[in-house]
Amino acid sequence: MNRFGTAAACLQKQLGPPAAPPDYAASPFGSRRQRFLLGATTVAAHDLVVKILLVSDLHYALKQLDWITSVAPRFDLVVLPGDHIDIAGRLDGTVQVVVILKYLKRLALATRVLVSSGNHDLDTRNAAGEKVASWMQRVRALGIAADGDTVVLGDTLVTICPWWDGPVTRQDVAALLARDALKRKQRWIWLYHAPPANSPTAWNGHRSFGDADLKVWIDTYQPDIVFAGHIHEAPFKRGGSWADQIGATWVFNCGRQIGPVPTCVALDTQAGEAAWFSLAGAEIARLDQPLQRPLPALLQEPAWLRSQ
Ligand SMILES: [Zn+2]
Repeated sequence: MNRFGTAAACLQKQLGPPAAPPDYAASPFGSRRQRFLLGATTVAAHDLVVKILLVSDLHYALKQLDWITSVAPRFDLVVLPGDHIDIAGRLDGTVQVVVILKYLKRLALATRVLVSSGNHDLDTRNAAGEKVASWMQRVRALGIAADGDTVVLGDTLVTICPWWDGPVTRQDVAALLARDALKRKQRWIWLYHAPPANSPTAWNGHRSFGDADLKVWIDTYQPDIVFAGHIHEAPFKRGGSWADQIGATWVFNCGRQIGPVPTCVALDTQAGEAAWFSLAGAEIARLDQPLQRPLPALLQEPAWLRSQ
């Protein structure tokens, strides 16, 4: 077995095969579930963010949502930064929203979930005539933080940026980031669907599709982590990557793959490592060291993925 095969086997072993929704009553993670049922309205002192799972651009891949739900209890936080809907899909977008909301509701019983919109999720226009994802209000009604929300989790501040389609919504994002900069905690995380300009996380193999405004905001505020998506091919193309470091800021885009198991980034803030898993292999980055390319292949399971 080559090293990619080994890493893929590692992923299967660690995060498990795609599964039906877990039976929480029989789950060894039941105690953690209890914690998060309380967590929707109570931010307890123990509410620290250690293990984070990034999955993006699911585009109505319901089997992938099943898989996320099955592994979610192993993470303190699951972030889904946009493109939940498949606008090219056979199902009407409003029907897709109803189904996605059901899945998100179930996922939120397994762990804390944060959701932002992507360009596929836009279902209406605001007063300025710019496209927005109005159904993020329905996500919020489930007790799940979404577009425009700021969440404090222990020593971590999370800012959830909506997709912006014009100058008014872009200004809303600018104001949101400026406001949250005054509330900074030890760690500041952003959800932002598009990766920044001139980053390997925005490279699709032919050109860069990064967001120039995000690059300026990263340079200005230097958040600790930006979780993005949007450019599905970036991690799989020469010159692209799932990880980037811009000053003090780590940027992650896990990409997108077919099949029942999504590509994902798992991150442990205490171990100081982020690992990317995909059908094409797995790689790891140390967050307390300068990024060096090529990123090393993940040849064995990180200890922090084993621990609960
Ligand atoms: Zn997408």
